Amino acid sequence: MTLSPTPLHMVTRFAPSPTGRLHVGHGWSALMAMDMARAAGGAFHLRIEDIDGTRSRPDHVAGIIADLTWLGVAWDGDIVFQSQRLDAYAAALERLRAQGLLYPCFCTRADIQASLTAPHGPEGAVYPGTCRGLSQAERARRIDAGDAHAWRIDMGRAVARVGAVAWTTLPFPPNLDRRHSVAAHPLTHGDVVLARKDAPASYHLSCTLDDAAMGVTHVLRGNDLRGATDIHRLLQALLDLPSPAYVHHPLLIGPDGKRLAKRNGSIALADLRAQGMAADVLALHLRTGRFPIGIGLASA
Ligand code: GLU
Repeated sequence: MTLSPTPLHMVTRFAPSPTGRLHVGHGWSALMAMDMARAAGGAFHLRIEDIDGTRSRPDHVAGIIADLTWLGVAWDGDIVFQSQRLDAYAAALERLRAQGLLYPCFCTRADIQASLTAPHGPEGAVYPGTCRGLSQAERARRIDAGDAHAWRIDMGRAVARVGAVAWTTLPFPPNLDRRHSVAAHPLTHGDVVLARKDAPASYHLSCTLDDAAMGVTHVLRGNDLRGATDIHRLLQALLDLPSPAYVHHPLLIGPDGKRLAKRNGSIALADLRAQGMAADVLALHLRTGRFPIGIGLASA
């Protein structure tokens, strides 16, 4: 096992999607990513993942900036907006397409659900590969006819191209002296979508490209994205991109035992601010693992 040395200049980031209000878990994650970079004399960036035109909203972008600023999260340089990086995503898609690693998928969500034999991977139903077998002529015909389609990666081919890949991980809480290598299992996720019907790139593609373009050396994010790292590592190998080290932190759960999420009314940072909570007290509490009443760490 080869471990690369600790980079001289650490770069971390926080990358929220503006699809709702930030909750205390986001604030905790952002503070940790910032503190990690600052402790190493490195840089911390903010990236707004706003390519989902149906769910991203400008008022949430403004809310994220206001909440983070209130909490004392300060980023270096300009905010990166994914909506301004569409050319980079298109170029990467073209490169993968030219290598014969992508195919158009015309399936609807209902088509995929109806495929009861679909196996389940770490992130839910795995695409059964229905459109992988379409002929070139059929693909061209349907594209010319204007049929809505996503672009999926042929995971079998992609894995055959790059062979076994591994990513570097640090334990949580981050400890730079305890790096180790974890085998990636991209095949378990099946032929994931890299360009959506309704968005020019998927999260997997845009996130991987942006982390590389921003020089991110350490990605700190929630355990819910551990599986995504398998896919990101594969894309790095296919696109000759450097691979950052990854720290996956536990998620926070609320009084109902469910994980905090933007959509289920979890305590938003904006609510705490409106209730008159002092931001420096909250930040100190989060940094020392003391969460508002009823909120705690999920066990896995
Ligand atoms: N935008 C993603 C989210 O809000 C996080 C992406 C990441 O940290 O890789 O869940």
